[in-house]
Amino acid sequence: MLFAGRNNWMNLMSYFNPVNPAILSKTLLLASLFPLLGCQPNGQNTELPPFDGERAFAEVAALVEFSPRDAGTPAGWKAAEHIAKRMEGFGIAVEVDTFSDMTPEGEKTFRNVIGRIPGKTDQWIILGSHFDTMPGIEHFQGANDSGSSTGVLLEIARMLAGQVPDIGIIFAFFDGEEGIAHYIPGDGLHGSRRMAGQLRQSGEYKKIKAMILLDMVGDKDLHFTVPYNSSRELVKEVFGAAQATGHRNRFSLTRSVITDDHVPFLEIGIPAIDIIDFRFGSESGLNDYWHTEADHLENISAESLKITGEITLELLQSLTFITNPE
Ligand SMILES: [Zn+2]
Repeated sequence: MLFAGRNNWMNLMSYFNPVNPAILSKTLLLASLFPLLGCQPNGQNTELPPFDGERAFAEVAALVEFSPRDAGTPAGWKAAEHIAKRMEGFGIAVEVDTFSDMTPEGEKTFRNVIGRIPGKTDQWIILGSHFDTMPGIEHFQGANDSGSSTGVLLEIARMLAGQVPDIGIIFAFFDGEEGIAHYIPGDGLHGSRRMAGQLRQSGEYKKIKAMILLDMVGDKDLHFTVPYNSSRELVKEVFGAAQATGHRNRFSLTRSVITDDHVPFLEIGIPAIDIIDFRFGSESGLNDYWHTEADHLENISAESLKITGEITLELLQSLTFITNPE
């Protein structure tokens, strides 16, 4: 992922907790987020099995086989095909969107992988992750950035395949998140800018109720540093889901602004949040594994993927009222 002023990011960090758990009321929050849908589930909540962190880890390991999976390279395209095949294997309709975009190194070809679980209404929540790796790092696996979030999304897709939520779920696997030229405008976020542009042009953006981005969710020392440029209603929802699953102490809302794949959606008026742990390092508080060869499978854990999966599933259930097929 990208970060404004990352060299001094720790100095800039200042944590605060604006949400008082005592006033967290999911019903009220949902009422504000989805006023047109009403607040009551119209079916029984599905009892999903527990999120399996080992399965998610296996997905990460399988993706890492393609590394480095840089955008615009054959390995990157194969990684996209691999993700599409996994989704199809779960029985989820999937589209591979191949497109060209300009980069500081000239035009490149990217592949977004988009899977959909339709709901009872023509409204949608986007659950997103990038899958490309940062170029130019020797022996780079990108197990955390961006394998971890991709693995969690795939495992959630497997679990939810065949469900009929009130609101549909779009699984968006973005190519080309990583910038290559010091974060100049137009560099990086190629896949998310592409999708947001399509939604804007087609008018479908009006049907998207929320965009939930996962990024760097596998650190063994998992503590989410939710950036300030996340929609407040979703911050409350995510913190509520964390509370409900016993993981509230793993979240802080920071004063940092992070340029990540949620930004193009914010820019077209879709509520969006970046669920990211931007402290991936050798010690608590450090981010020294980020964009180095230390970002490998041994430095992430199935347990952290499980925690992320549990929170995300809880969030999706509260946002979409996932119900049994009728
Ligand atoms: Zn990155």
